[in-house]
Amino acid sequence: MCVDEADPGEPRHAQPDGTAETLRRVPHPAPRTPHPDSQLVFLALETTCDETAAAVLEGPRPPRAGVPRIRSSVVASQVGLHQRYGGVVPEIAARAHVRQILPMIDEALRRAAVALPDLGAVAVATRPGLVGALVVGLTAAKALALALEVPLVAVDHLEGHLYACQLAYPDREVYPCVGLVVSGGHTSLYLCRSPLESTFLGGTTDDAAGEAFDKVASLLGLGYPGGPAIERAAESGDRTAFALPRSFLHDDRLIFSFSGLKTAVLYALHGQNARGGAIPQDPSLVGDLAASFQEAVVDVLVAKTRQALIRSQLKRLGVGGGVAANSRFRDRIGAMAAELGVELFIPPPALCTDNAAMAGIALPKLCAGQVAELEVDVTAGLIRPARGA
Ligand code: ADP
Ligand code: MG
Repeated sequence: MCVDEADPGEPRHAQPDGTAETLRRVPHPAPRTPHPDSQLVFLALETTCDETAAAVLEGPRPPRAGVPRIRSSVVASQVGLHQRYGGVVPEIAARAHVRQILPMIDEALRRAAVALPDLGAVAVATRPGLVGALVVGLTAAKALALALEVPLVAVDHLEGHLYACQLAYPDREVYPCVGLVVSGGHTSLYLCRSPLESTFLGGTTDDAAGEAFDKVASLLGLGYPGGPAIERAAESGDRTAFALPRSFLHDDRLIFSFSGLKTAVLYALHGQNARGGAIPQDPSLVGDLAASFQEAVVDVLVAKTRQALIRSQLKRLGVGGGVAANSRFRDRIGAMAAELGVELFIPPPALCTDNAAMAGIALPKLCAGQVAELEVDVTAGLIRPARGA
């Protein structure tokens, strides 16, 4: 690193031997002027909830448009820390992000064989999520953007979930599309004209679908996170064994409700108006309830998305969020899309659950000139409850 000769007017510090040392100013490296045809390599960070994630992506340098390629994507899950509480505890999440963020950045850079000076931008999810969790990613991103003198890009986690579809299908036009985000904190339908322009069509009036999976798994003694556990238990169950409610199935409005379904599972286990009870020990009962519950959630998600597609007359559907990793959901939404002649974009499971690569939506944002100021703050939005039922 080059060091400036000191100006005569610069401050001096007294040394123990009485001499004075002039503080020398270390100049910023001259801003690099990359060739306009070169690729932009950028870092993406995600700390909205209980995953600390970092990714390195590479794409056409803005203003050239294009879809970035994922060079590396690493996720440190906090599942082990929250398991005993049956849900995410915000303060534990924030502290774990502080411990994990730098190792994750290092690992993403290492796997991509990229050094910090190679980065041309830093992207970070700033909304929605747990405030103490979001702040960790944003602070790291600001520090890097400031030190490297590169643009900071603030991205929306939900827009990112849908942009994961574009990352998964880089050579196809995903937008305009109907977008369904179905995760632990969100169950929402959007009309997406482009990655950055979407209109909310409707969402859940109470629990999110993933939250319902987590709460019902807790009732069935299947542990946290509930989605994968219910999916596994459902494999040996009969999905017609219990007639569970499907809220708003025949309602014209694009709204969802999953809290009655969760209560119906509770009553099926412990009797009408029960408030709780022992964890069931009969594996066939657990399997049947898991399969019946999963089918009820999938029925509603598929029916409401079908309604949105018919109403919008759009022939493309993008789906994102952790619940989109569910195999039964993937089969059923695929069959519905095929029936309507709609192109379905659904990322592989690792791009459905929280990850930093989806903050690759930063590339279209940079093309649109949407660079964040260093004063940008987080927006908490919805907070997932810590414990179910
Ligand atoms: P959030 O963004 O709200 O943190 P994610 O997008 O990471 O959520 O998704 C996590 C949610 O997805 C959890 O509620 C989890 O139970 C659910 N989930 C993950 N895998 C599956 C699956 N295979 N089936 C159903 N739900 C799943
Ligand atoms: Mg998410």
